Amino acid sequence: MKVTLARGSGFCFGVRDAVEMAHESTDKYGSVYMLGDIVHNEHVVRQLDDAGVMVVDSLANVKEAPVLFRAHGTSKEVWKNAEKEGLNIIDATCPLVTQIHEEVKQLAEEGREVFIIGDHGHDEVIGIASQIEGATVLSSAAEAEPLRKMKKIGVVSQSTQTIENVQEILNVLVTKATDLRFINTICFPTTRNQEAIKELARLNDLMIIIGSFTSANTKRLTSISKKLNNQTYQVQTDKDLSLEWFKEIETVGVSAGASTPDFLIQKVISRLNEISIEIGTMETEPA
Ligand code: SF4
Repeated sequence: MKVTLARGSGFCFGVRDAVEMAHESTDKYGSVYMLGDIVHNEHVVRQLDDAGVMVVDSLANVKEAPVLFRAHGTSKEVWKNAEKEGLNIIDATCPLVTQIHEEVKQLAEEGREVFIIGDHGHDEVIGIASQIEGATVLSSAAEAEPLRKMKKIGVVSQSTQTIENVQEILNVLVTKATDLRFINTICFPTTRNQEAIKELARLNDLMIIIGSFTSANTKRLTSISKKLNNQTYQVQTDKDLSLEWFKEIETVGVSAGASTPDFLIQKVISRLNEISIEIGTMETEPA
């Protein structure tokens, strides 16, 4: 059984840097606060918890230690309050998210009605929307349909959206405005990951996508793969792999969400190699 790992799978540089900063901060200060989990992955969260990261739901619960602002950005209001309180802020915001904040401000300055294509309630989207007054979040083309006609529209997207969803929504938005400006803010690690999955899903008999079921990014990657290869399985760890899936399978493509750490990817790859040997043995066993 041939196993191929997708280029650029797992932690994107934004998440990798934020996790490193969290570890460096706990080494330096003993502990550090964070508003919510750093990524949607239970293993990473547990490791950071062991290292001294304390997850809280509001700044009111931040005591002496510094507070780390996560890769996917923090709302303007929280920034202001933290500065007002004189908290020691460790900023791990991904530069590509900061760029989206700048883009929406620019669109608003141009006098456009601003739309953010993204998941409702996602922290990155909340952070982007907070940069200006009156931004509207759209997660699907159906949500764009009832919009009234407008003169000037500005559109950005959450960094981890699929280009297909963005295009569907844009198709509706172009019918709503005479002047539409779209800035493609899907980040390049996301684009690269999605493209690699599409290629592997076409070329392989079966696909494995590694990541937490709480990770919207991983779920999106699984759905991209499933559209091209119905033998697609999402697993959280190597323990979730079932031997049954791999009978008659010659090639396996593997990828992982941006919140999946390398050690989990390596464990899955090792288990797949073991499965390959086990299945090979079973196939050569006499009936
Ligand atoms: S997904 Fe993209 S924008 Fe988000 S943290 Fe990773 S690199 Fe940055």
